[in-house]
Amino acid sequence: MNAPLAHPPKAESLPSAEGVTPVMAQFLAAKAQAPDAILFFRMGDFYELFFKDAEIAAAALGITLTKRGKHQGEDIPMAGVPVHALDGYLARLIRQGFKAAICEQLEAPSEAKKRGSKAVVHRDIVRVVTPGTLTEDSLLDARGANRLAAVSIRRGRAAVAVVELSAGSVDVVGCSLEDLAATLASFRPSEVLVPDRLFSDEAARAALDGSGGVVQALPQAMAEPVGARVRVERLYGVASLDGYGAFEEGEVSALGLIAAYLETTQAGKIPALSPPRRSGDTGFLAIDPATRLSLEIDRTQRGERDGSLLACIDRTVTSGGARALAERIARPLRDPVAINHGLDAVEWLLERRDLRRDLRDGLKAAPDVARAVSRLVLGRGGPRDLAAIRAGLSVAEGVAGLFPPDRDALTGPPVRLVACLDRLMLSPETGGLLVDLAEGLVAEPPHLARDGGFVAPGYRPELEEARRLRDDSRRVVADLEARAVADAGVPFKIKHNAVLGYFLEVSARAAEPLLRPSGDSPFIHRQTLANQVRFTTVELSELDAKISQAGHRALAIEGETFETWRHTVQLLARPLQAVAEALAELDAHAALAEWAEEVGAVRPAVDDTACFEVTAGRHPVVEAAVKAAGDPYTPNDCRLDGSGANCARLSIVTGPNMAGKSTFLRQNALLVVLAQAGAFVPAKAMRLGVVDRLFSRVGAGDDLARGRSTFMMEMVETAAILTQATDRSFVVLDEIGRGTATYDGLAIAWAVAEALHDHNRARTLFATHYHELAGLETRLAHVCNLSMKAREWNGDLVFLHEAAPGAADRSYGVQVAKLAGVPPAVVARARAVLDRLEGEKTAAVSLDDLPLFAVTETPARPPSSALHDALTAIEPDELSPREALEALYRLKAIRP
Ligand code: ADP
Repeated sequence: MNAPLAHPPKAESLPSAEGVTPVMAQFLAAKAQAPDAILFFRMGDFYELFFKDAEIAAAALGITLTKRGKHQGEDIPMAGVPVHALDGYLARLIRQGFKAAICEQLEAPSEAKKRGSKAVVHRDIVRVVTPGTLTEDSLLDARGANRLAAVSIRRGRAAVAVVELSAGSVDVVGCSLEDLAATLASFRPSEVLVPDRLFSDEAARAALDGSGGVVQALPQAMAEPVGARVRVERLYGVASLDGYGAFEEGEVSALGLIAAYLETTQAGKIPALSPPRRSGDTGFLAIDPATRLSLEIDRTQRGERDGSLLACIDRTVTSGGARALAERIARPLRDPVAINHGLDAVEWLLERRDLRRDLRDGLKAAPDVARAVSRLVLGRGGPRDLAAIRAGLSVAEGVAGLFPPDRDALTGPPVRLVACLDRLMLSPETGGLLVDLAEGLVAEPPHLARDGGFVAPGYRPELEEARRLRDDSRRVVADLEARAVADAGVPFKIKHNAVLGYFLEVSARAAEPLLRPSGDSPFIHRQTLANQVRFTTVELSELDAKISQAGHRALAIEGETFETWRHTVQLLARPLQAVAEALAELDAHAALAEWAEEVGAVRPAVDDTACFEVTAGRHPVVEAAVKAAGDPYTPNDCRLDGSGANCARLSIVTGPNMAGKSTFLRQNALLVVLAQAGAFVPAKAMRLGVVDRLFSRVGAGDDLARGRSTFMMEMVETAAILTQATDRSFVVLDEIGRGTATYDGLAIAWAVAEALHDHNRARTLFATHYHELAGLETRLAHVCNLSMKAREWNGDLVFLHEAAPGAADRSYGVQVAKLAGVPPAVVARARAVLDRLEGEKTAAVSLDDLPLFAVTETPARPPSSALHDALTAIEPDELSPREALEALYRLKAIRP
């Protein structure tokens, strides 16, 4: 996985503004507003970068570094990118952890000239681009949400605030310090804001780094609750936040960091945000970053989406739907009632195949309404975004019409679907916008509003008028060419450019007669080039003026129309986002139903008990891979009971390498994720008492990036489980303790298993190659052994991938080595050594002989000796340094 840069590289301190040119002074003033961002300074058709920014960008983007002018006797480094290519360069800089500020020309050069020939075009920063505040489709992953998070800690409680600009959604979660990492990771933020004091806090840093986002430290003062509250109120344009609920201090502080950051990065443009959704950490299944990674929930361990649980089950047809599904899988719920509402929706759609097909077909035509709305609100949208809203609204109407009007709780669609349908109902305002856009916006509008051509013919009479004038005059111009050719007897061509407007052009040779002085020639000379000469006539210049006036007028009217629509979208942002959300949610429900049908998944029974019962469960990702290779997948049962009433709560899973232990463990953890996300599960049946925290750890994998040894990492993570797991948690531990010497490892594995059983009382699957652990079954009340079956068949090992009661009898390591292609001579030698070792194990170390169980016994006295006696005689506290040295010499002299 690409580790994000924790500190985006900072730009240098600013060059002095003494004696610089007016444009450079303007550049430096802009730079002072965003000193830590790379400044893109608009100059005509290019964005130019100067000084250190130019050097950084040249290295990061591979663009040419040149120089321009001098600053205090030194060359000024410069680099530039063409305006039309900005997005691509921005994307690359942002991915590398940089921030970029865009400084635009805010007037035409002709406007500046009116203020005097030396006047500089007015420029200002219109936006600071950061990973968490992107809204451009070209810079974003369509199927993943882009979130900006902020973390604050007040009075021993943590708070996480998260905004997704594209959807206008805001979440705040107050949680314990221990749950900070899990809470933050559940949002997968691209960028995380923290007060600088937290930035240097060791424990907080671990949580921040685990989130995967770029961490930005803001001044501590921005997190102070009083100022933060004022900024949040300003962001929402309300006099008090109380109307949105009673927030904890930390929550206000985290929201305040977001508000401060949006104010600076959006240069005063206020995004349309929904009121903060407040949820406690008890609302969701807590899954910490290590568990997410280990279970490959939405990314594989290599950081790719392909191969994750999410990619495996994703059957959504819209990008909004894909994001909704990703959110559901990343943040499964904890409340059985809410979970069952989700399951009701999936079940209802699963049972109605035709409706589901029509629904999915309808949704396919829905563009990304959420992102279109947010771009328009932030002033970055264009006519295509309006077209996206139009298409989205008409899909909403069509899709809502597919559902039966019956709203009876028993026979009609379940509550979650009804809630979606309610949001799809267009209000008079949103309906009005749809009608307006259907009438006024052309079918396939251009990307930019600037060039016009998107308002439909007939929509605005004054626009028609201007366009007619422009087009009629163009027609007259075309006629004029023929007349000029006839009048002058030379082969004129009418051409147009920005400087001369329309003109008549002819080759230099043909132009000769026209250049001779003649009083009555209508052709007025304008310009002589190497091979061509250009003329105009009074009629042509009059037409030119008319056309350009009419053209300007048409553009101005289109610009006004765009602004009216944009304003309406801004006013209706919330209801429009609600429609987008409802479409996305319907897509996610229908996709889960589709997948359930495809793989034969069933509805899990989710309740408040402490049970976990899976019949014939399958690992969705491994199953798909195994089946793609043409092999069958072996389903497995698993039973655990946290209360220990019906069956064990801790299973020790043994079996040879490659027998399927890890797959079995992860399979059961993934079924918990799916069930609590309100998805069906690949099994014959499943009953699940809701889990509060899910843990999965594998005793392996060097984390060199963090500079800790494998074993240290393993122990840090194990410690986290032992301190956080409760009797509602679900824990899978795979080969914990294998990172150290045999006895150490066994001792630690033993003690961890005991602690989980006695103190945490979590439902636990514990895979180990220490077969001695199977002895726990007889020593502890709620332990049972499972083993993954393997058989030897004609000297070869066959894995059955079947979890059966009882412990594995042997490890089959030599057989696995043979299967892996270790050369036969080495395998034969290993077998010989093994036979010998096993033969020597006459009085095999029995469990009770292990040092583990000897600790309570009084240690035997060491045998007496001259050395020992001399040592015992020494009283260190009573010796002078000199006597101590002498004692040391005496000791050295004693022979054992
Ligand atoms: P272990 O942890 O015991 O070393 P794994 O869980 O890594 O074994 O499984 C090894 C391989 O066996 C997997 O990659 C998969 O291809 C196959 N496998 C595991 N479980 C099953 C199963 N239930 N059915 C079919 N194949 C399986």
